[in-house]
Amino acid sequence: MRDYSSNLMSYLSEVEPDEAGPDLAGVCQRYGIAPESMIMMSRNENPYGPSPRVRDILRDVPLHRYPDSSLFLESLAKYTGYPEENIIIGAGMDEIIITIARLFLGRGDRALISVPTYNVYGLAARFCGALPVHKPRLPSFKVDPNIPDGMKMIFLCSPNNPTGNLVSEETVRSIAESTDGIIFLDEAYAEFAEKSLLKLVKDYDNLVVGRTLSKAFGLAGLRLGYAVAPEWIAEQYRRIAPLFSISSLSLAAGAVSLNDLEYMRQTVSKIVLERERLFDSLKEANPSQGNFLFIHTREKSSLVMERLLSKGVVIRDCSAFPGVDDHCIRVTVGTPEQNERFLRAYRESE
Ligand code: PMP
Repeated sequence: MRDYSSNLMSYLSEVEPDEAGPDLAGVCQRYGIAPESMIMMSRNENPYGPSPRVRDILRDVPLHRYPDSSLFLESLAKYTGYPEENIIIGAGMDEIIITIARLFLGRGDRALISVPTYNVYGLAARFCGALPVHKPRLPSFKVDPNIPDGMKMIFLCSPNNPTGNLVSEETVRSIAESTDGIIFLDEAYAEFAEKSLLKLVKDYDNLVVGRTLSKAFGLAGLRLGYAVAPEWIAEQYRRIAPLFSISSLSLAAGAVSLNDLEYMRQTVSKIVLERERLFDSLKEANPSQGNFLFIHTREKSSLVMERLLSKGVVIRDCSAFPGVDDHCIRVTVGTPEQNERFLRAYRESE
């Protein structure tokens, strides 16, 4: 067989593939656990799922036509308070992060990432041949507002995954005013937080705020993300984004969900209430504005994770996050019953 691998783009050899998490089938076999009794608290999903109206609408979606995003966009405009000209959409926020990086980053460019944070920003930069510059956060995981020169993009996350804290308005304003680069502010978990900075997009021509329907709206499986961007960036984005990456089923589900905000707000308040209860029971947890808690463990996080797995509880070992040591885990807030099961298993695992 001939070797064709010299055709590969050499800069992609730097890419560390994203972690899919433990092999659950293997875990079930190893510990004799029935797959349906495992509880997933590792991906910051919403245990309550989407509005019940979603399932009703799916039957009527015309599957032989290419997707039409107009109703979804209209609903997003109403939800965000921004006109459609400022809104871009994608198959999950991940697609938006990766596409927007293509607009601004090329070989040798640098993108600033305050670590620890979500790992897709670094991946997106690498996909373009750019260099992720990891800047450690200040005490209490605050973002350092001093941005080195020459950063073409700056990625911020609020509430931050995995630490749960917000970035302050003052910090975002100060960065937006001092950099020549483009800021991508990821607000995947904004609905669980006291504050969003979406309103800042109208003040700055270099600020994009990303959002998703995977978390508060419970639609992670349908892959729906969006961002509010200055008009000039939204226009450029639409030139290069895939035209039909979001399926008709997802677009219909998204529009229905955005028009049942009462359901979303109810599930969010149940999760926030449980987050605070869990936080009060765990003295090693960091205060969180998301639907997850970042916990400093006495034992190695890999060991804690394995012990929890043996009890059918799946959490995230954070040791692979740049900027995190090997004593941190992240747990997604579940239903009261799931949280009780986690707490019991965690106490036995310490
Ligand atoms: N941003 C953050 C901070 C996330 O945690 C996630 C999902 N884990 C995403 C973006 C991606 O969301 P989506 O499901 O919309 O691709």
